[in-house]
Amino acid sequence: MKTQEELIQLDVIPQFTEEVVGTDLLNIHSIETFGTHDGPGIRMVVFVQGCQFKCLYCANPDTIALKGGSWLDIEELVKRAINQKPYFGKKGGVTVSGGEPLLQRKVIKKLFRRLHEEGINTALDSNGRLIDQHAKELLEETDVLLLDVKHINNEWHKKLTGKSNLSVLKVADYRESTGKPMWLRYVLVPGWSDQAEYLHELGQRFKDFTTIQKIEIQPYHMLGVHKWEALGMEYGLKGVEPPSKEIIERTVSIFSQYFKEIKVN
Ligand code: SF4
Repeated sequence: MKTQEELIQLDVIPQFTEEVVGTDLLNIHSIETFGTHDGPGIRMVVFVQGCQFKCLYCANPDTIALKGGSWLDIEELVKRAINQKPYFGKKGGVTVSGGEPLLQRKVIKKLFRRLHEEGINTALDSNGRLIDQHAKELLEETDVLLLDVKHINNEWHKKLTGKSNLSVLKVADYRESTGKPMWLRYVLVPGWSDQAEYLHELGQRFKDFTTIQKIEIQPYHMLGVHKWEALGMEYGLKGVEPPSKEIIERTVSIFSQYFKEIKVN
């Protein structure tokens, strides 16, 4: 087993890091307590470091780099979750968000198993970057999957995130095949992801899914712009304004033809 210091020095991406060292350490960016926006009830939200998408609107661009972050033993996270358990109530629990959690799927699977042993609900907020046996095992331990579908059209998805949406759709299909709950999340960006034809296409793609409990619309905001500037990175959506009330209402109206519950965050 390598020391934390050695792990930080490793010039490899997180998913390989786990494989190399078989570690119980999770590379995290930050932890939020009493989160109410990432899954059911009140939650402890663990933001992991590293993401292979580069969304133009990313509000936390400091979580994208695969290096960086801090390594924390999952038992430390379990201990913190147990301390907060009285606040979780019936619905709450722990959400792992990011960054992209699937990049560290093996260790998060272990974390979720431990949380389940302690009777704590688990949620995974993922961009659906990949699906393999370890990802499937992690999804088995995930009570609610919050799946970010950035765009239904592959070309637009590539423009927005730098990557294809094929794996995202595969993750959605796999989740549906397991019969376990899923929420979709959709960032609404004027001129980029608000095209009526694609909103309908997204609805058509998912309308028969029985596991989708709701779709959450996340209106684009510019709160992360200063972080891009601080990191010396160019912000790709300069000049794009948050969606108007009309755009949001029109999107809700389209989605309501396909989904039973729509929430605007
Ligand atoms: S998937 Fe999430 S963390 Fe990754 S770049 Fe996009 S918004 Fe940022």
